[in-house]
Amino acid sequence: MKPTIRLVVTDLDNTLYDWVSFFVPSFYAMVDEAVELLQVDRERLLDDLQEVHVRYGTSEQPFALLETKVVEDRLSGKSTQERVAFLDPAFHAFNRVRKETLKAYPGVIEGLRTLAGLRCEIVAHTEAPVVNALFRLNSLSISPFLKALYATATHGPGHPDPARAKVRLPNHGIHVLNSEQLKPAPDILRTIIDERGVLPSETLYIGDSLTRDIAMARGAGARSAWAKYGRSFTAEDWQRLVRVTHWTEADVARESELRQQFAGITADVDLSNFADISNQFNFEPSDSDVRLGSSAIGTEAAANRS
Ligand SMILES: [Mg+2]
Repeated sequence: MKPTIRLVVTDLDNTLYDWVSFFVPSFYAMVDEAVELLQVDRERLLDDLQEVHVRYGTSEQPFALLETKVVEDRLSGKSTQERVAFLDPAFHAFNRVRKETLKAYPGVIEGLRTLAGLRCEIVAHTEAPVVNALFRLNSLSISPFLKALYATATHGPGHPDPARAKVRLPNHGIHVLNSEQLKPAPDILRTIIDERGVLPSETLYIGDSLTRDIAMARGAGARSAWAKYGRSFTAEDWQRLVRVTHWTEADVARESELRQQFAGITADVDLSNFADISNQFNFEPSDSDVRLGSSAIGTEAAANRS
């Protein structure tokens, strides 16, 4: 007998798409362009960017380039809008490479469609900021399958274009999590499960990290599926990410502690392809029927159906 699942909670980065393999090339395309524009030493710019990442506690702080010391030095006396205009080719380089490299993994859309067809509730959970997560879910056309997004608050000055600085988030379906509480704290998942009104044993968590996603699922008494395909990025991209990461020494120490604590942990199922999930469990409908919306930012339809 396959276990019955009424709630699927899926991780985003490296579970639905390869975050490392899109973010790192996009980021470095921006860096290469900025090095030319600013006529700055590349390593100095990388140091400056890393400093901004550490300050905000995230390696994907939007427009971090504008907050680097070197931009402050070279473009002092210029307004934010003038700085943005000057650095525009660098921001465009990021967007261009992201467009080429941000792709859903094979089987993701197909698998989500199958689960949604069975009317099983699907929600997304990430430690990434809401704005970044929503952008990806919308541009990959994943949002229509989701009933909710659980993500962390976005900090910093926001989009430099005043017209876009105040991103109107849909008041429905977005849940901002306390960013102090990190995976694998089981309380994060317990909160989500309680809010959705199902039992832990009827919940399936899908994620690419054994020590964070799978450990959290087990701690909360939920079922788990390990997206083992999510580790297929290159060592070179990983090293380039580490070069600018926000991780502090404490973060690195915590990581190695987790690896020891959860050595040998396994999930209920291992996935070589996201779509394989549909054969592994018995997915059942949940009660409510409100979705995040195809263009979740300011979606009237989603709001009106609440
Ligand atoms: Mg992940």
